[in-house]
Amino acid sequence: MLILGIESTAHTFAMGLLETSKKQVLFHEKVQFQNDVGMDPRKLGDFHTREFSSVLLKLTEFLKKEHLTFADIHLLSFSQGPGIGNALKIGCTVAKTLSLRFNIPLVGVNHIKAHLEIGKFFTSFKDPLFLYVSGVNTQVIAKDDFGNYKIYGETEDIGLGNLLDSFARLVGLGFPGGPLIEQEAKKSHTYIELPYTVKGMNISLAGLHSHLKQCTEKGMSREDLCYSVQETVFAMVMEVVERAMAYTKKEEFLIVGGVAANQRLREMAEAMCKIRKAKFKTFPFQYCLDNAIMIAWQGYLDKDKATSKDFGKLKPLPYETVESFLL
Ligand code: AMP
Ligand code: MG
Repeated sequence: MLILGIESTAHTFAMGLLETSKKQVLFHEKVQFQNDVGMDPRKLGDFHTREFSSVLLKLTEFLKKEHLTFADIHLLSFSQGPGIGNALKIGCTVAKTLSLRFNIPLVGVNHIKAHLEIGKFFTSFKDPLFLYVSGVNTQVIAKDDFGNYKIYGETEDIGLGNLLDSFARLVGLGFPGGPLIEQEAKKSHTYIELPYTVKGMNISLAGLHSHLKQCTEKGMSREDLCYSVQETVFAMVMEVVERAMAYTKKEEFLIVGGVAANQRLREMAEAMCKIRKAKFKTFPFQYCLDNAIMIAWQGYLDKDKATSKDFGKLKPLPYETVESFLL
Protein backbone atom coordinates (compact mmCIF):
# COMPACT_ATOMS: atom_id res chain seq x y z
CA MET A 1 0.00 0.00 0.00
CA LEU A 2 1.38 3.41 -0.99
CA ILE A 3 0.58 6.03 1.67
CA LEU A 4 1.22 9.77 1.69
CA GLY A 5 1.67 11.26 5.16
CA ILE A 6 1.35 14.98 5.93
CA GLU A 7 2.76 16.48 9.13
CA SER A 8 2.04 20.03 10.34
CA THR A 9 1.52 20.08 14.11
CA ALA A 10 4.20 22.62 15.05
CA HIS A 11 7.58 23.67 13.64
CA THR A 12 7.68 21.18 10.74
CA PHE A 13 5.71 20.87 7.50
CA ALA A 14 6.56 17.50 5.95
CA MET A 15 5.30 15.09 3.32
CA GLY A 16 6.38 11.47 3.11
CA LEU A 17 5.62 8.43 0.98
CA LEU A 18 5.69 5.00 2.57
CA GLU A 19 5.30 1.67 0.75
CA THR A 20 3.92 -0.50 3.54
CA SER A 21 4.28 -3.94 1.95
CA LYS A 22 8.06 -3.51 1.66
CA LYS A 23 8.24 -1.21 4.70
CA GLN A 24 10.08 1.17 2.42
CA VAL A 25 10.43 4.95 2.75
CA LEU A 26 10.21 6.24 -0.84
CA PHE A 27 10.22 9.97 -0.25
CA HIS A 28 10.49 12.42 2.62
CA GLU A 29 10.79 16.18 2.49
CA LYS A 30 10.33 18.80 5.18
CA VAL A 31 10.68 22.48 5.94
CA GLN A 32 11.27 23.72 9.47
CA PHE A 33 10.24 26.97 11.17
CA GLN A 34 13.38 28.69 12.46
CA ASN A 35 12.90 31.10 15.27
CA ASP A 36 15.03 31.14 18.36
CA VAL A 37 12.52 33.02 20.51
CA GLY A 38 9.81 30.37 20.29
CA MET A 39 6.76 29.74 18.14
CA ASP A 40 4.46 32.73 17.71
CA PRO A 41 1.26 31.02 16.42
CA ARG A 42 0.57 33.75 13.87
CA LYS A 43 4.09 33.62 12.42
CA LEU A 44 3.94 29.84 12.48
CA GLY A 45 0.68 29.87 10.49
CA ASP A 46 2.25 32.26 7.96
CA PHE A 47 5.26 29.91 7.68
CA HIS A 48 3.15 26.82 6.93
CA THR A 49 0.96 28.76 4.46
CA ARG A 50 4.05 30.06 2.67
CA GLU A 51 6.23 26.94 2.70
CA PHE A 52 3.93 23.94 2.15
CA SER A 53 3.96 24.45 -1.62
CA SER A 54 7.75 23.95 -1.88
CA VAL A 55 7.38 20.50 -0.27
CA LEU A 56 4.39 19.64 -2.46
CA LEU A 57 6.37 20.68 -5.53
CA LYS A 58 9.24 18.34 -4.58
CA LEU A 59 6.76 15.50 -4.12
CA THR A 60 5.26 16.21 -7.55
CA GLU A 61 8.75 16.13 -9.12
CA PHE A 62 9.55 12.87 -7.33
CA LEU A 63 6.35 11.20 -8.56
CA LYS A 64 7.08 12.33 -12.11
CA LYS A 65 10.65 11.00 -11.95
CA GLU A 66 9.38 7.63 -10.70
CA HIS A 67 6.65 7.51 -13.40
CA LEU A 68 3.98 7.66 -10.71
CA THR A 69 0.98 9.98 -10.29
CA PHE A 70 -1.09 11.05 -7.28
CA ALA A 71 -3.69 8.51 -8.48
CA ASP A 72 -1.21 5.73 -7.55
CA ILE A 73 -1.41 6.73 -3.87
CA HIS A 74 -3.81 4.47 -1.97
CA LEU A 75 -4.26 6.47 1.22
CA LEU A 76 -3.68 10.00 2.53
CA SER A 77 -2.94 10.51 6.20
CA PHE A 78 -2.51 13.79 8.09
CA SER A 79 -1.76 14.89 11.66
CA GLN A 80 -5.13 15.87 13.10
CA GLY A 81 -3.82 16.74 16.57
CA PRO A 82 -2.53 17.58 19.10
CA GLY A 83 -0.70 20.64 17.85
CA ILE A 84 -0.86 24.36 17.21
CA GLY A 85 -4.15 25.27 15.48
CA ASN A 86 -2.64 27.62 12.90
CA ALA A 87 -0.21 24.93 11.75
CA LEU A 88 -2.70 22.03 11.88
CA LYS A 89 -5.12 23.93 9.61
CA ILE A 90 -2.66 24.03 6.73
CA GLY A 91 -1.88 20.29 6.78
CA CYS A 92 -5.60 19.52 7.04
CA THR A 93 -6.45 21.79 4.11
CA VAL A 94 -3.66 20.39 1.91
CA ALA A 95 -4.75 16.82 2.76
CA LYS A 96 -8.43 17.47 1.99
CA THR A 97 -7.60 19.24 -1.27
CA LEU A 98 -5.40 16.36 -2.51
CA SER A 99 -7.99 13.83 -1.37
CA LEU A 100 -10.80 15.56 -3.28
CA ARG A 101 -8.76 16.35 -6.37
CA PHE A 102 -7.33 12.82 -6.80
CA ASN A 103 -10.08 10.82 -5.08
CA ILE A 104 -7.79 9.30 -2.43
CA PRO A 105 -9.32 8.14 0.90
CA LEU A 106 -8.25 10.32 3.81
CA VAL A 107 -7.59 9.61 7.48
CA GLY A 108 -6.69 11.99 10.34
CA VAL A 109 -4.27 10.55 12.92
CA ASN A 110 -3.02 11.27 16.43
CA HIS A 111 0.46 12.77 16.23
CA ILE A 112 1.64 11.29 19.56
CA LYS A 113 0.50 7.78 18.67
CA ALA A 114 2.39 8.22 15.40
CA HIS A 115 5.59 9.06 17.34
CA LEU A 116 5.19 5.85 19.36
CA GLU A 117 4.15 3.53 16.53
CA ILE A 118 7.02 4.56 14.24
CA GLY A 119 9.39 3.47 17.02
CA LYS A 120 7.81 0.01 16.93
CA PHE A 121 7.93 0.05 13.10
CA PHE A 122 11.72 0.56 13.03
CA THR A 123 12.69 -1.62 16.01
CA SER A 124 10.11 -4.44 15.66
CA PHE A 125 9.35 -4.06 19.38
CA LYS A 126 5.92 -5.46 20.21
CA ASP A 127 4.80 -3.72 23.38
CA PRO A 128 7.38 -1.26 24.73
CA LEU A 129 7.21 1.39 27.37
CA PHE A 130 7.98 4.80 25.84
CA LEU A 131 9.66 7.93 27.05
CA TYR A 132 8.34 10.69 24.78
CA VAL A 133 10.68 13.66 25.13
CA SER A 134 10.27 16.45 22.60
CA GLY A 135 10.45 20.22 23.08
CA VAL A 136 7.02 20.47 24.70
CA ASN A 137 6.29 16.88 25.79
CA THR A 138 7.77 14.80 28.57
CA GLN A 139 5.61 11.72 29.07
CA VAL A 140 6.02 8.08 30.05
CA ILE A 141 3.52 6.10 27.97
CA ALA A 142 2.63 2.43 27.52
CA LYS A 143 -0.36 0.34 26.50
CA ASP A 144 -2.61 -0.81 29.35
CA ASP A 145 -4.20 -4.27 29.66
CA PHE A 146 -6.95 -3.20 27.22
CA GLY A 147 -4.47 -2.18 24.52
CA ASN A 148 -5.04 1.56 24.97
CA TYR A 149 -2.18 4.00 25.36
CA LYS A 150 -1.98 5.37 28.88
CA ILE A 151 0.22 8.10 30.36
CA TYR A 152 2.00 6.74 33.45
CA GLY A 153 3.97 9.87 34.26
CA GLU A 154 4.72 13.31 32.89
CA THR A 155 6.10 16.75 33.60
CA GLU A 156 3.85 18.94 35.70
CA ASP A 157 5.10 22.10 34.05
CA ILE A 158 7.64 22.63 31.25
CA GLY A 159 8.91 19.96 28.85
CA LEU A 160 12.46 18.64 29.13
CA GLY A 161 13.44 19.91 25.66
CA ASN A 162 12.06 23.36 26.45
CA LEU A 163 14.06 23.45 29.69
CA LEU A 164 17.27 22.63 27.79
CA ASP A 165 16.47 25.18 25.07
CA SER A 166 15.68 27.89 27.58
CA PHE A 167 18.81 27.20 29.67
CA ALA A 168 20.98 27.18 26.53
CA ARG A 169 19.66 30.62 25.60
CA LEU A 170 20.36 31.85 29.12
CA VAL A 171 24.02 30.81 28.94
CA GLY A 172 24.46 32.08 25.38
CA LEU A 173 24.76 28.71 23.65
CA GLY A 174 22.03 29.31 21.05
CA PHE A 175 19.20 27.20 19.66
CA PRO A 176 18.29 24.34 19.63
CA GLY A 177 19.78 23.98 23.08
CA GLY A 178 19.75 20.20 23.62
CA PRO A 179 22.62 19.25 21.27
CA LEU A 180 24.69 22.32 22.29
CA ILE A 181 24.33 21.49 25.99
CA GLU A 182 25.32 17.90 25.20
CA GLN A 183 28.60 19.08 23.62
CA GLU A 184 29.33 21.57 26.42
CA ALA A 185 28.64 18.92 29.08
CA LYS A 186 31.43 16.73 27.66
CA LYS A 187 33.98 19.31 28.88
CA SER A 188 33.12 18.77 32.56
CA HIS A 189 32.83 16.07 35.22
CA THR A 190 32.04 18.41 38.11
CA TYR A 191 28.57 17.82 39.45
CA ILE A 192 26.80 20.84 40.95
CA GLU A 193 23.85 19.83 43.06
CA LEU A 194 20.59 21.01 41.46
CA PRO A 195 16.92 20.72 42.47
CA TYR A 196 15.73 17.17 41.80
CA THR A 197 11.92 17.11 41.79
CA VAL A 198 10.18 13.78 41.28
CA LYS A 199 6.62 13.72 42.64
CA GLY A 200 5.34 10.15 42.50
CA MET A 201 5.21 9.38 38.79
CA ASN A 202 5.57 13.00 37.69
CA ILE A 203 8.47 15.40 37.48
CA SER A 204 8.64 19.17 37.80
CA LEU A 205 11.22 21.32 36.02
CA ALA A 206 10.15 24.93 36.69
CA GLY A 207 12.02 25.17 40.03
CA LEU A 208 15.15 23.79 38.40
CA HIS A 209 14.78 26.38 35.64
CA SER A 210 14.68 29.27 38.17
CA HIS A 211 17.64 27.77 40.05
CA LEU A 212 19.69 27.54 36.85
CA LYS A 213 18.95 31.22 36.20
CA GLN A 214 20.33 32.12 39.64
CA CYS A 215 23.44 29.94 39.10
CA THR A 216 24.08 31.67 35.77
CA GLU A 217 23.66 35.13 37.31
CA LYS A 218 26.24 34.16 39.95
CA GLY A 219 28.66 33.37 37.09
CA MET A 220 28.99 29.64 37.78
CA SER A 221 30.83 27.56 35.18
CA ARG A 222 28.75 26.96 32.05
CA GLU A 223 30.25 23.56 31.33
CA ASP A 224 29.71 22.36 34.93
CA LEU A 225 26.10 23.52 34.79
CA CYS A 226 25.55 21.80 31.41
CA TYR A 227 27.01 18.57 32.77
CA SER A 228 24.95 18.83 35.96
CA VAL A 229 21.67 19.72 34.28
CA GLN A 230 21.91 16.65 32.02
CA GLU A 231 22.78 14.35 34.94
CA THR A 232 19.89 15.75 36.98
CA VAL A 233 17.03 15.86 34.47
CA PHE A 234 17.88 12.55 32.81
CA ALA A 235 18.10 10.85 36.23
CA MET A 236 14.68 12.32 37.08
CA VAL A 237 12.98 10.95 33.96
CA MET A 238 14.77 7.61 34.21
CA GLU A 239 13.61 7.20 37.82
CA VAL A 240 9.99 7.53 36.67
CA VAL A 241 10.63 5.30 33.65
CA GLU A 242 12.13 2.56 35.81
CA ARG A 243 9.18 2.66 38.20
CA ALA A 244 6.75 2.52 35.26
CA MET A 245 8.67 -0.46 33.79
CA ALA A 246 8.31 -2.30 37.10
CA TYR A 247 4.62 -1.42 37.42
CA THR A 248 3.63 -2.30 33.85
CA LYS A 249 6.04 -5.26 33.61
CA LYS A 250 7.08 -4.14 30.12
CA GLU A 251 10.26 -5.73 28.82
CA GLU A 252 11.07 -3.28 26.02
CA PHE A 253 11.92 0.41 26.22
CA LEU A 254 12.03 3.12 23.53
CA ILE A 255 12.77 6.83 23.61
CA VAL A 256 11.00 9.03 21.03
CA GLY A 257 11.07 12.80 20.37
CA GLY A 258 14.01 15.13 19.73
CA VAL A 259 15.76 14.60 23.08
CA ALA A 260 16.14 10.89 22.13
CA ALA A 261 19.27 11.96 20.24
CA ASN A 262 21.15 12.55 23.49
CA GLN A 263 23.93 10.01 24.10
CA ARG A 264 23.97 10.49 27.88
CA LEU A 265 20.23 9.82 28.09
CA ARG A 266 20.73 6.70 25.94
CA GLU A 267 23.55 5.51 28.24
CA MET A 268 21.29 5.86 31.27
CA ALA A 269 18.50 3.99 29.45
CA GLU A 270 20.90 1.17 28.54
CA ALA A 271 22.13 0.89 32.12
CA MET A 272 18.59 0.79 33.52
CA CYS A 273 17.46 -1.82 30.97
CA LYS A 274 20.51 -3.99 31.64
CA ILE A 275 19.68 -4.13 35.36
CA ARG A 276 16.02 -4.93 34.60
CA LYS A 277 16.95 -7.43 31.84
CA ALA A 278 14.80 -5.39 29.47
CA LYS A 279 15.54 -4.58 25.82
CA PHE A 280 16.46 -1.06 24.72
CA LYS A 281 16.83 -0.04 21.06
CA THR A 282 17.33 3.20 19.20
CA PHE A 283 16.19 4.01 15.67
CA PRO A 284 17.19 6.65 13.06
CA PHE A 285 17.05 10.09 14.59
CA GLN A 286 15.18 11.73 11.71
CA TYR A 287 12.20 9.52 12.60
CA CYS A 288 12.40 10.46 16.31
CA LEU A 289 11.71 14.07 15.28
CA ASP A 290 8.43 15.27 13.79
CA ASN A 291 8.23 13.65 10.33
CA ALA A 292 5.67 12.58 7.76
CA ILE A 293 6.65 8.90 7.57
CA MET A 294 5.31 8.32 11.08
CA ILE A 295 2.04 9.96 9.97
CA ALA A 296 1.86 7.68 6.91
CA TRP A 297 2.47 4.59 9.08
CA GLN A 298 -0.15 5.67 11.63
CA GLY A 299 -2.52 6.18 8.68
CA TYR A 300 -1.90 2.57 7.70
CA LEU A 301 -2.72 1.42 11.25
CA ASP A 302 -5.90 3.55 11.22
CA LYS A 303 -6.83 2.82 7.59
CA ASP A 304 -10.26 1.46 8.54
CA LYS A 305 -11.25 4.99 9.63
CA ALA A 306 -10.40 6.49 6.21
CA THR A 307 -13.15 8.32 4.37
CA SER A 308 -13.71 9.83 0.93
CA LYS A 309 -16.68 12.00 1.80
CA ASP A 310 -17.25 12.51 5.53
CA PHE A 311 -14.90 15.51 5.66
CA GLY A 312 -16.83 17.41 8.35
CA LYS A 313 -15.25 15.34 11.14
CA LEU A 314 -11.77 15.82 9.75
CA LYS A 315 -11.03 19.13 11.40
CA PRO A 316 -7.90 20.02 13.41
CA LEU A 317 -8.06 18.80 17.03
CA PRO A 318 -5.34 20.85 18.80
CA TYR A 319 -6.03 19.52 22.31
CA GLU A 320 -6.09 15.76 21.75
CA THR A 321 -3.98 13.55 24.00
CA VAL A 322 -2.55 10.10 23.34
CA GLU A 323 -5.29 8.68 25.60
CA SER A 324 -8.05 10.15 23.44
CA PHE A 325 -10.65 7.85 21.98
CA LEU A 326 -11.57 10.35 19.27
CA LEU A 327 -8.49 9.72 17.17
P1 AMP B 1 11.02 17.81 18.82
O1 AMP B 1 10.07 18.77 19.53
O2 AMP B 1 10.63 16.36 18.97
O3 AMP B 1 11.28 18.20 17.40
O4 AMP B 1 12.43 17.92 19.57
C1 AMP B 1 13.09 19.14 19.71
C2 AMP B 1 13.81 19.16 21.04
O5 AMP B 1 14.84 18.14 21.07
C3 AMP B 1 14.49 20.49 21.32
O6 AMP B 1 14.11 20.91 22.61
C4 AMP B 1 15.98 20.15 21.24
O7 AMP B 1 16.79 20.96 22.07
C5 AMP B 1 15.98 18.71 21.67
N1 AMP B 1 17.19 17.98 21.25
C6 AMP B 1 17.62 17.74 19.99
N2 AMP B 1 18.81 17.09 19.99
C7 AMP B 1 19.14 16.90 21.31
C8 AMP B 1 20.24 16.32 22.00
N3 AMP B 1 21.28 15.80 21.34
N4 AMP B 1 20.23 16.32 23.34
C9 AMP B 1 19.18 16.85 24.03
N5 AMP B 1 18.12 17.42 23.45
C10 AMP B 1 18.10 17.46 22.10
MG1 MG C 1 6.18 15.75 17.82
